[in-house]
Parts: sequence; structure tokens; C-alpha cells
Amino acid sequence: MFFILGMTNGRQDFDYRDTIICPSCGRLGGCRVFMTYMQVLLFFIPCFRWNKAYYVEMSCCKRVFKLNPRIGIIIQHGGKERIRQEDLMPL
Ligand SMILES: [Zn+2]
Repeated sequence: MFFILGMTNGRQDFDYRDTIICPSCGRLGGCRVFMTYMQVLLFFIPCFRWNKAYYVEMSCCKRVFKLNPRIGIIIQHGGKERIRQEDLMPL
């Protein structure tokens, strides 16, 4: 009996469209939300993810902010939560 284990990091983009006033440049910008994570592969099949972090990339100035994970989890599960400026932390 043997196992083939691997470890990778990955990125998942969410289908989320909203516009907010950008905390960086002050213009109205579109938000693109994505998540990064580490995952264990067992026989090349992803089976466990951890170290998840949620980010927002602004369309106006391409600045990336860390997103409040509470909002990120809602968006990940298809919820319609509005992102507010206070949910964004500069990297
Ligand atoms: Zn901006």
C-alpha cells in the first residue's frame, strides 16, 4: 500500500461583480474577488484546502486588497454581500 501525496497552492476566481469607491485612488472601480489557498493532493486529486485568504483586485488601478474573510466566505458560496471600504485591508 502506498500513497502519492502532493502539495500545491492554488487560486480561485469568483464570479462577483460590483463597483465601489476605490480606497486607493478614489475612483469608482470594479471589484474582482479571488481566493488563494494551499491544498493537499492525494493521487493528484485535491482533497484538503487550508490557509485560505480572500483578495479584491480593483479594476481602476489594479491595486489588490485583502478582503475581510467573513465577506469572502459569503461570496465564495454565491452570496450577494456588498463589499465596503472597511472590509478591505491594504497589503
Ligand atoms: Zn483604484
